[in-house]
Parts: sequence; C-alpha cells; structure tokens
Amino acid sequence: MSALTLASLRAAGQNSPEPVERALAAAQAVAPLNALISLDAEGARRCTAATDAPLSGVPFVHKDLFCTRGLRTTCGSKMLADFVPPYDATIVERLAKAGAVTIGKANMDEFAMGSSNENSAFGPVCNPWDTTRVPGGSSGGSAALVAANVVAFATGSDTGGSVRQPAAFCGITGFKPTYGRVSRYGMVAYASSLDQAGVLARSAADCAEVLQVMAGHDPRDATSVERPVDDYRAALELGVRGLRIGVARPLFGAGVRDAMQATVHAALRELEAAGAVLVDVDLPSLPLSIPAYYVIAPAEASSNLSRYDGVRYGHRAENAKGLRDLYGRSRAEGFGTEVKRRILTGTYVLSSGYYDAYYRRAQQVRRLIADDFARAFAGVDLIAGPTTPDVAFRLGEKTADPLAMYAADINTVAVNLAGLPAISLPAGFIDGLPAGLQLIGRAFDEARLFAAGHALQSRSDWHLQLAPGAVR
Ligand code: GLN
Repeated sequence: MSALTLASLRAAGQNSPEPVERALAAAQAVAPLNALISLDAEGARRCTAATDAPLSGVPFVHKDLFCTRGLRTTCGSKMLADFVPPYDATIVERLAKAGAVTIGKANMDEFAMGSSNENSAFGPVCNPWDTTRVPGGSSGGSAALVAANVVAFATGSDTGGSVRQPAAFCGITGFKPTYGRVSRYGMVAYASSLDQAGVLARSAADCAEVLQVMAGHDPRDATSVERPVDDYRAALELGVRGLRIGVARPLFGAGVRDAMQATVHAALRELEAAGAVLVDVDLPSLPLSIPAYYVIAPAEASSNLSRYDGVRYGHRAENAKGLRDLYGRSRAEGFGTEVKRRILTGTYVLSSGYYDAYYRRAQQVRRLIADDFARAFAGVDLIAGPTTPDVAFRLGEKTADPLAMYAADINTVAVNLAGLPAISLPAGFIDGLPAGLQLIGRAFDEARLFAAGHALQSRSDWHLQLAPGAVR
C-alpha cells in the first residue's frame, strides 16, 4: 500500500494487519537481497505516533548515513561500523514527529560513493527485478526495499544521482530536492556542495507527502534555505496542460542505449497527450559534467573524510606506534578501495601545482553547466531525459573499471552541479527491467515536478508493477 493509504487507514482506525509488523516480516523474507544493514524491530515497535500525524504508522527505512540517536549509523563503512550517534539528523527528527516508523537502516555504497551498491563494507545489494543485477547506488538498499514492497518509502541522499539512479534501476520514484531545500544536519558528509537528502517511494504522490515533512529551513544547517515550503499535495493536482517540457538532446546522447531513448520518448508522449508541450533544448556543456563532478566530489570528499583519523570517533587501529601510525593504519583499515581512490584523487586535484589545472577548471565548468540550465529554463518549465543510459547492469560488470562505473552517471551529475531539483519516474520496461524518465526543474520548483510526475502516473501503470522478488 502507498504511504498515503497507510496513513489514512490509520487515521480511520482501520489498519490491519498492522503495517509495521508486516514490514518487519517482509524485511526478513527478503533478507537475501542484503538491503538492510540494521533492523530495528524493537525501536519500530516502541513507536506510538498520534493517529492524526501525516505519516502516522507508515513503515520506512533510512539510508544508513542519517544519524539516528542510539542506533548505529555505519555509512556502509567499516570506519563507522560501531558508530552510535548521540543525536538525530534533522530529517530523522522530522519524520519521527510526522509519525513515520523506521524499521531499520538501509545498505548503501560506502560513504555514498558508487553507482551500484557494490562498494558497501556490508556486501552488495541485489535488485529485486533480477537478483543477478545491481539495484543502483549509492541508495541501493533504500531502493531495493521499496521495490521489494517491504516499506512504503525510504530516505536517500543524492550527491550525483544516488536517489534517482537506484530509483530508475528498481522501477520506483525517486526525488532529489533543490540544494538547500532539505537540511543536511546529521547526514554524513560526502561532498558538501552537492549532497542533498531525498526520498524514494512508489509514486510521485508519496514522494510529495514525505518531502513535505522533510523540507524546510533548519538553523543547524547554514546552507538550508529560509524560504517557505510549497504545498506539494495541492501541486499534485495542477496537471501539465500548457507546461513546456524541454527534451534535452545531450541526455539522449551517444552513450544512451537506443531502447532507452525509445522508451523514454514514449513516456514523454504520455505527458504530451496530457497537455504538455515538448520542445527541443540543448545543454552544450553537459558532456563535461562527468570530469567536472569527478574532480569536485572527490576534492570535497578528501576534505570531509579527513575527520576519520582514529582519534575522535570511528575505527581505531590497535597497538599504534605513535600518532602517524595511528592515523595511517586506522584509515588504511577503515576505508574501502573506492573511498581510498576518491581521497587520493581529491587530495591530488587540491594540491598546489595541480589546483589551477584541475580543481579551479572543474569549478569553471560547473558554472558553464549551471548557465546552460539557466538558458534552457528561460524557454521551458521542465527538462526531460532518461535517468540512466541503460537499465540495471549485472553485479560485477563494472567493478574492474572505475571509469565505466563513473560514466554511468552521465545523466544525473549535472543536476547536482547546478543544484537543481529532479525526479526519476518509472517509464516502462526494457527486456523486463525498469527504465526511468528524469524530469529536472528550476531551483525550488519542486511543486511542478510533483505535478508532472502525478500527471504521468495518473495515466500509466509502470509505477504499479511489482518486481518478481517483491513481497506480495
Ligand atoms: N555515483 C556517484 C558517485 O559515486 C553519485 C553518488 C551519490 O549521489 N551519492 O559519486
């Protein structure tokens, strides 16, 4: 059932069988997907939310990078395998207050670095549509648990696509808000100028309901914006009549499989039939987004991750012979291969002599990309394209080739570089595997994305299809 249905049944006093108990049992039933790092049955059973709270009694999971007081928060890393936060992230507080019930913490790529959920220190996650395939990353556990019908929604974080890409691979809806719309307080930092919390659910309507609770200014995050939150539920009914949707040529570029292009074009024609106007737009700098992102994100990561030194918190090497040995071995033992690769890349591009050639350059490209979007949005309300170049790939297929893995992010990272909101919507199937349509909005125009998403889902049933591995 959708989050909305569950909450309204609860308000009407008609919830049976109890959805939290059902979710806990379902989580056990899909244990082989390896989508959960921690199950918190006790905590879930302790929740006694008021029946009139907006998400009352709705079971969900948090990606394991949101700090949960008293419940370990690993960020998919051995470094934080035993870290029990002394405080809650802002969105953890807000969702609890809204009555939603966390049943546990979802598996993820270590420190949210990855596109396949194969970088987790707790092992890879399988895709419920085909367990030989990846669920996408880095919010792979979150996506798999929604797609497997265990929970109504899940939180995620999106630095370069980590909400939208796994949503696309798992046939669900994923929403990445504008940078600054949702507080980052208590969300373990990867690349602070790109990170934004998001939501994965089965429908745009459910994403709207959850974002309504998560969004809003937080004095504890200086980058969270003081600006009223629109009424997303009301926005769902706005429709798309007369809405101008820019079909972005480079999002249908060379690396995008033909079948994906055709599938997404067909989904766009549904929006056209609902009254939207499709026009061509160009984003000429988009092909530069991968190199720019993979300089900026590692640079920020190398700085953020310097806090894990074995002294303050996190993994500490045993029997250290002095401070340098403690730093070196704690980090060598605590971090996985991909995280080390990012720290090395980031340290390199920030070092004197290379800073101008790489980091400053990447920041200039970032500006060009943001300008491209600004120019395009002068003529259209939304920009559309496939979320990913292809459907979910096989486990192990890209692990030996980091550049091939990075290239899979070509359609998502530009959105983060420009700080914009975007949604990934189920848009059909290719060989039985889900494809995603990505819609990108102007900054703080989340409402229009919900309107378009709901319009599409009112006239299609792709989002209602259940994965073969889902609990029924
Ligand atoms: N795949 C991208 C990366 O590895 C994006 C990850 C994310 O959005 N957290 O950096």
